[in-house]
This record gives sequence, structure tokens and C-alpha cells, in this order.
Amino acid sequence: MRIAFFSTKPYDRIWFEPMGKDYGFDIHFIELPFNEDTVYLAQGHDAVCLFVNDYANAAMIEQLHQMGIRAILLRSAGFNHVDIQAADGKIPVLRVPSYSPEAVAEYAMAMILTVNRYTHKAYNRTRDFNMNINGFMGTDLHHKVAGVIGTGKIGQAMIRIFKGFQMQILAYDPYPNPNLDVKYVEIEELMQKSDFISLHCPLTEQTKNIINKETISMMKDGVFLVNTSRGGLINTEDLIEALLAKKFGGVGLDVYEEEEGLFYEDRSGDIMQDENLARLTTFPNVLITSHMGFFTVEAMQAIATETLENAYAVEHGLELKNIVKP
Ligand code: NAD
Repeated sequence: MRIAFFSTKPYDRIWFEPMGKDYGFDIHFIELPFNEDTVYLAQGHDAVCLFVNDYANAAMIEQLHQMGIRAILLRSAGFNHVDIQAADGKIPVLRVPSYSPEAVAEYAMAMILTVNRYTHKAYNRTRDFNMNINGFMGTDLHHKVAGVIGTGKIGQAMIRIFKGFQMQILAYDPYPNPNLDVKYVEIEELMQKSDFISLHCPLTEQTKNIINKETISMMKDGVFLVNTSRGGLINTEDLIEALLAKKFGGVGLDVYEEEEGLFYEDRSGDIMQDENLARLTTFPNVLITSHMGFFTVEAMQAIATETLENAYAVEHGLELKNIVKP
């Protein structure tokens, strides 16, 4: 199988190059992202391998179909960037549903602890031998209320971590898990009662902008919000308005509504064109990182293994257990 591997970074090659050889695949590593301008590069391959900021709309899927592409291999859990409806019956879309839920949940907690205790600021101050701690007062997590939106694999890992801090946990999920030892409430109650809110639901039509002016107005003053799921869950302009009104104790964003073309790239020499992102970086209580919650050794290894297993299943006509259906 010849695989066109888009948005390649050095850390992808470390895992995919040797493992791909073991599977007997011919992987063509392409640094460019997959989009309307680069779709033609898939010509001559059997499969394309995409990451979170690549996208495939209906027209592009039709082009891939015409080229004889037999699989769209997502090296991610999320699949909101591919038109699944359009692909259905044409090209199987396979994802990596679970690689290391702990990697993302641990990262969400790292963001909470950082933004709450200002360790990102303190690091710079002490490097300048400024040992003043003014402005760095945080709040205990112990016995506070944690709200978890989405109790799938990552949400459950997050609940385990919150429990370790002896927090009281409220959860919201339209499909509650009866085996989970957690109190499910309506989303309004979660918004009203939580001191820390962590988002772990996928981006869908129902969850798009689930954090907006209205839901923010339900939240406690001084609430902490962390998003390690997908940027589109938050209405960025409503978030900025609330930040300006000093609504939040802190906000951690590992994902951003308009991250495509920005995240994972070095844009340090460019003039920042995204005014919302520029604004967000000015708040002392906002921590933004570049969609790296997944980025651990264990997760990378599991992503490579599972992605190549998906390709192997397509090549050998095996059951496609990770196929994404509409
Ligand atoms: P999962 O499929 O195991 O769980 C998602 C949960 O969300 C399910 O329980 C589902 O019922 C629930 N859900 C669906 N609609 C909802 C709604 N309207 N409101 C609340 N909950 C809803 O997925 P997961 O593995 O836990 O991953 C969650 C998300 O995390 C992914 O969709 C992806 O977007 C994101 N993610 C981010 C990173 C990163 O690096 N930051 C890495 C992996 C995954």
C-alpha cells in the first residue's frame, strides 16, 4: 500500500517510518497540509493519512475517489475535519479512537494547574531574578466542584484525576455511562455549580459553540475553563467579551476555533492576522498551547500502531473496526 502522509512533522517520522517499513507500506511523507490546493498530491497512492488540521470536504473526497484512493487514515481520534457523510460508501474513513486518553486528561490538568497557579508566569519572573509573587495567588482545587462535559474515554480519565484532588464532580453527557461513579446533571446545573469546567466532547453540530454568551452567563464568577477537545466548542468572541468583563479565574486553551494553518507551524516571524488569537494572548489568566494534549511517547506510539493497523485491515480486507460512519 502506498500512503500519502500529509502534514508530516519530524516527530511523525520517528514513529511511522520504521513501523511503516515493518508493515511493508510505502509511506510518502509530505510536509504540506491536506487541503484543496494539495489534494492532487494524493494521485498515485492507495491511501491518504491526515492529521487534525487537514480537512477533506465532499468535493475533495470525490477527487480522492476518482484517483482510486481506498482509505482515509486519520491519525487522530476526532473526525470533524472530514465530511463523513460524503465519504460513506465511497472511501472508508478510519480513525484512532483511543490511543492514550490519559495523555489528554493529564494535559488538561496541567493547564488547570498552570493557569490557576501562574507557574508559566513565575518561570519567567524567577529567570529575571524577580522573586516577587504579587499577582500569583491561586485557588485550592481540593473540595471544589469540577464539571466534566463529555464522559467518554478522556472525560473518564479526567474524572479519575479530579477525584485524586478530592474534588466534587458533576458530569454532563447526553449518553450517560451507567457504569461510571459520577453524578450526571443537566448542562445548566453543571455550568452554574462548577468551579472548574473541562470540555471532553467531540465537535458536532450539537456541540458547536456550546460555550457561548448564554452558557458563560450561567457560570460562577471566577470559574476556570479548559478546552482540550476542539476549538469550535467555544465561541471565541463571547469568550473574549467575558474575559474582558473579568468573568474567568483562568482559561486554558489547547485548541482554537481558527487553528488550521496556525497551530503546529512556526509563525513567529509573521504579522499575526488573527485578531482574536492576538487578543487572547494578552490576558494574563489565559494559557494557549498548540493542540498538543495528545503529545506523549505512549500516545504517539499507539497512534502509529493503530493507524497502520487500520491500513493493514483495508489492504487485507479485514474487519474495519475503526471505521467512522455517519
Ligand atoms: P469519546 O468518543 O470516547 O467520548 C466523547 C464523549 O462525548 C462521549 O461520551 C459522547 O457521548 C459525549 N458527547 C457527545 N455529544 C455530546 C454533547 N452534546 N455534550 C456532551 N457530551 C457529548 O472521545 P474521547 O476519546 O474522550 O475524546 C474527546 C475529544 O477530545 C475528541 O472528540 C477530540 O476532539 C478531543 N481530543 C483532543 C486531543 C488533543 O490533543 N487536545 C487529543 C485527542 C482527542
